[in-house]
Amino acid sequence: MPQNVPEFEFSDNAKKVRAFVFDFWCEHGRGPTLLEVHQSTELDRRRIIAAYKELQLGIDIVVNEDTQNCNLLKAPPFSSFPSQVRAYIDDKFHSFVGCASEAVAFSHMPPFKDKTVRLESHCACCFTPVTLISKNFEMQSVTPPGVFLHISLSPYDWNNVDMSRMCDSMNYVLDAEHAEHYEKQTATRGILVNLDQAKMFVQNVANERMYNFHWKPGTLNPRAVIKGFKMMGVDTSAWE
Ligand SMILES: [Zn+2]
Repeated sequence: MPQNVPEFEFSDNAKKVRAFVFDFWCEHGRGPTLLEVHQSTELDRRRIIAAYKELQLGIDIVVNEDTQNCNLLKAPPFSSFPSQVRAYIDDKFHSFVGCASEAVAFSHMPPFKDKTVRLESHCACCFTPVTLISKNFEMQSVTPPGVFLHISLSPYDWNNVDMSRMCDSMNYVLDAEHAEHYEKQTATRGILVNLDQAKMFVQNVANERMYNFHWKPGTLNPRAVIKGFKMMGVDTSAWE
């Protein structure tokens, strides 16, 4: 269970693979194949997969460890599959975004500096389109205004196996009424986070990712996550 994993250090191979994965995804809008990782890093299959497993334990990527090719499913802020948010750079489709929360940090990736990022999503309950324009980690516009990030999984169940369920539970809703409708549709309870609070939530990761080659492995501490939201003024009573 990768919660409260004791502190560890990434190997040099893991850091090298991580840097390549993010560079490649920014440039091509998709994750690399094992061949492409090999061509860049000169690591063999066994070492690439070992690096992926380390990076998954350090909460940087999601891979399916039970596949022979260790399928690379996510490297937030990116997703390999059609997720709840699409990113457009200068009006051209770039990639699927890891989740509604990661979308807020997308424009902070160094290769996207000074570029206008348009994030296309929808209200989770009714599919009303939601469009966010972001530049240099600053939200330029939100349509319709007042959209919330809704998180419908308790941090005590984030990362039980990997990040997938956590990301899946982070969606946009138009308002509290739409949040309640979505909760009924999915038999969940959730919290409402405004986009300023969402930025605070993702900024520690966003300031390290691609900026610090030696970025340390993440740890998931559910109590600390909930305390952090409370300190931002978010009502976390749905999780108590
Ligand atoms: Zn709705």
